[in-house]
Amino acid sequence: MSAGPRSRELYARACQIMPAGVSSPVRAFGSVGGQPLFYDHAAGCRFTDADGREFVDYVGSWGPLILGHAHPAVVEAVTAAAAAGTSFGAPCARELELAELVISAVPFLEMVRFVSSGTEAVMSAVRLARGVTGRDAIVKFTGCYHGHADYLLVAAGSGLATFGTPSSAGVPASSAAHTLVLPLADEAAFRKLMAERGGEVAAVVIEGVPANNGLLPQTPAFVAALRDECDRHGAMLILDEVITGFRLGPDGAAGLYGVVPDLATYGKVIGGGLPVGAYGGRREHMERLAPLGPVYQAGTLSGNPVAMAAGAAALRELLADDGRAWRRLDELGERLERGLREVFVRRGVPWSVVRRGSILWLALQEGPPPVAAEGIDPEAAGRYARLHAALLERGIYLAPSAYEVMFVSTAHDEAAIDQTVAAFSDAIRAIEW
Ligand SMILES: *Cc1c(COP(=O)(O)O)cnc(C)c1O
Repeated sequence: MSAGPRSRELYARACQIMPAGVSSPVRAFGSVGGQPLFYDHAAGCRFTDADGREFVDYVGSWGPLILGHAHPAVVEAVTAAAAAGTSFGAPCARELELAELVISAVPFLEMVRFVSSGTEAVMSAVRLARGVTGRDAIVKFTGCYHGHADYLLVAAGSGLATFGTPSSAGVPASSAAHTLVLPLADEAAFRKLMAERGGEVAAVVIEGVPANNGLLPQTPAFVAALRDECDRHGAMLILDEVITGFRLGPDGAAGLYGVVPDLATYGKVIGGGLPVGAYGGRREHMERLAPLGPVYQAGTLSGNPVAMAAGAAALRELLADDGRAWRRLDELGERLERGLREVFVRRGVPWSVVRRGSILWLALQEGPPPVAAEGIDPEAAGRYARLHAALLERGIYLAPSAYEVMFVSTAHDEAAIDQTVAAFSDAIRAIEW
């Protein structure tokens, strides 16, 4: 069993009129095989597909749904906002509400600007860093995803510390030519690169906790080295908190590492399930943006009142009761981690679970979990595909790619976690490895 008859019918129709039938590539199930399930409706940690079957959801819309699907406070806020006008293209108080929540939670943010996606947030932050420093080069790390801007769809060139090469067709070599790509977790390589070309670098960009290519937590020492070299060479440190912002706690990965970036980017959780991105930093930098300064960036739907209301409702829930929500998320994540570890031991598979708070990743390979993209065993993808299919049969929906993480929400409860652990145990037993 993967997709039921109704999902298959919808998918056949979709494929006629949309490339691979989807609006974003990973949704097409290409890397696990089979056909995608069509969601019909969802509440809490569960969704019902087009064939009326219920699943415990660990995708959570790829991160935004930290409160689960259709959280009453978010639905109420969205409904009220929509009834008062769906878009203004002019300032509105709802923007202020979200901006004040974000700024009050993150100590190093003095100003933010809203955009409509994480991609736009990172693009805009990079432009600002280039505008402020007057330099063109940026440094990124293999395995970190920062959205689909041309100069961020770049893979390492041949040999370390060379300028990158496009990782997608349609990206001009000239766009990749300003992007330096390095492996994660290699402080020596990074320091060497900065010693050689630090004076050309506008910004070093890294994911809060890299979570788009497995979960690859970095050491505080590595992140401190980024801060140190940026300071030495006058480059800006951009912490891409699109996944980690408000997911790992009120101050995201910055709080976890104890690092103060020059600019931080947000998306996913801060939109409460609607399209919102944001970037921010110190006043002196943010006031370089148009119309105050020379760095242009704009958006027709930026600060959209319905999206702002959803984000503010979500953040208010998270920030209530002194951040109780994050303690709960950690508790649930820990229960899932422990349960899965026990299953792996009991079933005799040499796999590990990597977790930071409510983000979990299954490293279906032997040995210590990887800390850089280069350490991920490509064979793990095949194991994941079989596990994914067996879990679908048992009512558990994981992301359709071995490189994606699992997201726990506050709407997951002990019963859902325990159901998940039991399904894993049964699925691993049933598969002929
Ligand atoms: C999802 C993501 C993005 C891109 O956000 P979109 O809203 O999909 O454009 C950028 N950076 C990180 C770290 C992400 O996880």
